[in-house]
Amino acid sequence: MAKKQFKAESKRMLEMMINSIYTHKEIFLRELISNASDAMDKLYYKSLSENIGLSRGEFEINIVVDKDKRTITLTDNGIGMTKDELEQNLGIIAKSGSLQFKNDIAEDKNAEDLSVIGQFGVGFYSAFMVASKVEVMSKAHGSNEAYIWASSGVDGYTIESCQKETYGTQIILYIKENTDDEEYEDFLAEYKIRSLVGKYSDYIRYPIKMEVTKRVPKKHEHDNDHEHEHNPEFEEIREIETLNSMIPVWKKNKSELKDEDYNEFYKSKFHDYSDPLLHIHSKTEGTATYSALMYVPQKPPYDFYTKEYEKGLQLYSGGVMIMEKCGDLLPDYFSFVKGLVDSEDLSLNISREMLQHDRQLKVMGKAIERSIKNELKKLLANDREKYIEFWGAFGTQIKFGIYNSYGSAREMLQDLLMFYSSSEEKLVTLGEYVLRMKESQKEIYFASGASIVRINSLPQVESVKDKGFEILYLTENVDEFCIQMLNNYEEKHFKSIQSADLDIETEEEKKELKEKNKDNKALFDFIKEHLGDKVSTVRLSQKLKSHPVCIVSSGSLSVEMEKVLAAMPTDNHAKADKVLEINANHPIFDKLQFLFDNDKETLEVYSDILYNQALLIEGMDIDDPAKFVNKISEILAK
Ligand code: ADP
Repeated sequence: MAKKQFKAESKRMLEMMINSIYTHKEIFLRELISNASDAMDKLYYKSLSENIGLSRGEFEINIVVDKDKRTITLTDNGIGMTKDELEQNLGIIAKSGSLQFKNDIAEDKNAEDLSVIGQFGVGFYSAFMVASKVEVMSKAHGSNEAYIWASSGVDGYTIESCQKETYGTQIILYIKENTDDEEYEDFLAEYKIRSLVGKYSDYIRYPIKMEVTKRVPKKHEHDNDHEHEHNPEFEEIREIETLNSMIPVWKKNKSELKDEDYNEFYKSKFHDYSDPLLHIHSKTEGTATYSALMYVPQKPPYDFYTKEYEKGLQLYSGGVMIMEKCGDLLPDYFSFVKGLVDSEDLSLNISREMLQHDRQLKVMGKAIERSIKNELKKLLANDREKYIEFWGAFGTQIKFGIYNSYGSAREMLQDLLMFYSSSEEKLVTLGEYVLRMKESQKEIYFASGASIVRINSLPQVESVKDKGFEILYLTENVDEFCIQMLNNYEEKHFKSIQSADLDIETEEEKKELKEKNKDNKALFDFIKEHLGDKVSTVRLSQKLKSHPVCIVSSGSLSVEMEKVLAAMPTDNHAKADKVLEINANHPIFDKLQFLFDNDKETLEVYSDILYNQALLIEGMDIDDPAKFVNKISEILAK
């Protein structure tokens, strides 16, 4: 039978796996056991919901080590795979997000390999870290055909029909020979397998059985023969032993568990190479009785921002998994949380449709949401550095949460927000900002821009800082939309320093400005007339220090938001209402006054240039860059 080729990216992944410098080759066992356990969960659930009548006690995983043949054989009586499923599940990896995957691994074979593999989970392919050849024999439950999938790595795989009595899957690993610097033989030792199961798979709720060799005193025909009592002879017998305790981690008491236990469980359950950032273990009794074990990963998974990413917690009823991903248990803004919930309150054979309307589930969802929030707040209070790591990975999600909920999630999320502060020069919370507000300050000031550097160079920033106010820097697209939904924090409203009605001048300054604006009304009317719809007003400003002009917005749509909307595919071309402000203390203002009296034609050219200049500083696109440049050249040539 012709060999089939792995998909290109799968092949590359396999190569990395096989040549992995990864020291933890041993995780292959936990991955295969975890797959077997899932397959048995699936069949048990199917049996319950379709009344097939299998009992829990029938399920088991068997491991046989054959030192002579150098094989480890893992057998499960789970749901098994059809021919198509073998092809689908084992023939391709990195099913989605493959484009990004390709880019990521295109170059640099060594350094980042592991983090790349890690992003994609480990899974079945880890078998190739220790085996030179892998055979998977499987028979789907309810089918009478069995197939064998075989591969020696990158050169492809074959699928053929075969004989297999019972449903389920059997995997044979042909363990590699030792090399000068790699040790593989060890995996063929019983004690090694036993210790790996103990370390990584102890919690698996089906027995993991292995035939082990035991040395026992030899039995003699005359058992009470005194001669042998002092000098017994031994014999080796083969005996099946269960290697795991089968107690689910989440059922244990917190005091029994170390961080390491939580982390190992996370990695084995959710196929991550890295430890989680945070674990949340809660047991609740009352309106809803459940235990939950949840994790915040260190980084978003590779497909987090794609349609394929599915949020949800695994749902167990009394230790039996009834749903792989229960989305109803997690709000979208906490979709990065991985974990499981086990509740005796849920009926085992409840259908998915019924689950959606289950009152109990809703109560649990609410409680889970609160406990995630509380743990994050605790992290912020107790380990700020780690929280900032969290914020870097998932902060955007939280901000979108406030925006998408039209503000209804603000109570839940507002204290988790962090923004860069002009005065602290690091991330701060809104609570911290408000505590530092000056007595005279009524609003929370913010400025938007593409980066901290860009915002720092905004014309308005200088003077607001000079007056001693702290400014929050909003550098992400979603930020201003989020702030707008929040509306206020502890009754302090948010105010963009780029808005037309930023009210930070003293009464005296205001008076002076009013006079000057009045005196120059004709000049400003002229400029406004010339610029037409592009601006709604032209006026003087006290906010500017060294810059000649700036654009501010009046109304609820800011210049920054206009920019974000313009970049979206569904651009509705909403425009901010722009005000062009001229620095009353800048020599350019004198020049404009002069031109108004003497040379209106040049004044028009100046108006265009200053307007475009202001747009550029704001990080906006200008309509006709060529024209702008030509006009400047014209002036330079004069
Ligand atoms: P993951 O377990 O993360 O989905 P794997 O590469 O480990 O990724 O496995 C791919 C798929 O192959 C699984 O999702 C499952 O559908 C199938 N599979 C793997 N092992 C078994 C098994 N022992 N029995 C049935 N199906 C299995």
